[in-house]
Amino acid sequence: MNLPEEVAELDWRSPLPAGFRWPAGKRAAACFSFDVDAESPILFEHPEAAGWLDTMSHQAYGPRTGVPRLLRLLDRRGIRATFFVPGYTAERWPAVVRAIRDAGHEIAHHGYLHEGGHSAPDLATEEVRLLRGLEALDQVAGVRPIGYRGPMWELTYRTPALLVKHGFRYDSGLMDADHPYRLAVSADEGAPSLVELSAHWSLDDWEPYAYLPGITGSGVIASPAEVVARWELELDAMVEEGALFMLTNHPFVSGRASRVVALETLIQRAQAIPGLWVATAEEICTWVETLDLRPVVHRPHEPPFSTPVANSPQS
Ligand code: ZN
Repeated sequence: MNLPEEVAELDWRSPLPAGFRWPAGKRAAACFSFDVDAESPILFEHPEAAGWLDTMSHQAYGPRTGVPRLLRLLDRRGIRATFFVPGYTAERWPAVVRAIRDAGHEIAHHGYLHEGGHSAPDLATEEVRLLRGLEALDQVAGVRPIGYRGPMWELTYRTPALLVKHGFRYDSGLMDADHPYRLAVSADEGAPSLVELSAHWSLDDWEPYAYLPGITGSGVIASPAEVVARWELELDAMVEEGALFMLTNHPFVSGRASRVVALETLIQRAQAIPGLWVATAEEICTWVETLDLRPVVHRPHEPPFSTPVANSPQS
């Protein structure tokens, strides 16, 4: 096989990738992000639920009750956050999305109806969804986002090039790194690139908290004290690694009262760590763009078992 190297040279002694550094005086970063999914993921995955008032009310808790409470929290702590908003959420809850904007937070793209990338049969479908989400954010809030987060974190190998084509500067959701990196859209020499701000399921509130009978969750709902203790461990460890702590909360999940109280303790802890930069994804992207980083190329896999194996019993 003649493939380009995934990692050209492994320098395992330094926790920081080659060429990476934070702004002067900073040794790590934390981004508090909120995915305002509301009804959209349920409507996409379970269109029959459109007529279920109980289920829709569970999702409406996010924009109706969770977002205002979270905006008050962010205002109390004096920090700006990044809100990833599906286009359908913007159309359904325009005053809420405009309030997020007016409170000074970043608004980024999160699909139109929260369509996971794996569900797109082709590039044209992905592009239609991307453009529809852009159009909704523009019409409702006059916002042109620079950041994208795939619903369910799902990306295809064609998504990065599509994002570059439409002027996006970062993606947030791949899971192969702790530090921001340059994500090349192809292996071609001089190919354009995005900034990647990685995330992870363990720093997402959906898994420990969310429960909708028959739709999501096991019904075992974790205590906010336990969840925040888990996130604090990761925050402290990521700071020691000089990494990016990217936390993802959903207002319909983490907008509940005791979860907001717990989240506030985490934010206070982050704010008390010397040299920890609490920033929006856009601010972090803008910083990373100033660095001279070797782009990372993700090559699609071709399963080796699709070709006859030498010396197999059939050969
Ligand atoms: Zn989402």
